Amino acid sequence: MKREERAAAIVKALSRVYPDAHCELDFADPLQLLISTILSAQCTDKRVNMVTPELFKRYRTAADLAAASQEDIEKVIQSTGFYRSKAKAIRATCADIVAKHGGKVPQTMEELTTLRGVGRKTANVVLGNAFGKNEGVVVDTHVSRLAQRLGLTKQTTPEKIEEDLIKLIPRARWTDFSHWLIWHGRRRCKARNPDCEGCEIQSLCPSAFKV
Ligand code: SF4
Repeated sequence: MKREERAAAIVKALSRVYPDAHCELDFADPLQLLISTILSAQCTDKRVNMVTPELFKRYRTAADLAAASQEDIEKVIQSTGFYRSKAKAIRATCADIVAKHGGKVPQTMEELTTLRGVGRKTANVVLGNAFGKNEGVVVDTHVSRLAQRLGLTKQTTPEKIEEDLIKLIPRARWTDFSHWLIWHGRRRCKARNPDCEGCEIQSLCPSAFKV
């Protein structure tokens, strides 16, 4: 099966396996999703969801977070790890949102990625899940691993993997596709000991029983 055909078959199969796949970070608005995504680096969504209720209760707007002290934010987000750099990124991003965008999270890739502390992956999460815009494919550790195992890319950097996926997956499915790979990566195709035996897309996977 050619790569394009396999990609189309995988899209079809995963849409059936995970019809309800969604972003597992809890958020009520674009700002909350942006902050949660910054906090999710090297941390589980579950852990992020444990600290954000307190964070968003104390700080309701970008202006609140921009004006908060580094130490106060660090205290609330400490358990997510790398809390010094995350607190710094949150304050800088929020300061930019206030100074350049009137306190509202911008809705374009260009504007989002010029915010300090926001890279393409975070921007893709916000655009796809808070604004419903398919501007790219979120490539995190699960998406990287699964795209390689499924033979959809030979690349190893997130930027190059995203370029390959964008060519193979229909644009309307970009946000869904990253959810599907993330859900499959968490539930079935784990980094160690993937469950190839029980895998719903085993017949489409060139790495089945080889990892
Ligand atoms: S067959 Fe195995 S390696 Fe391939 S996607 Fe399924 S769990 Fe992962």
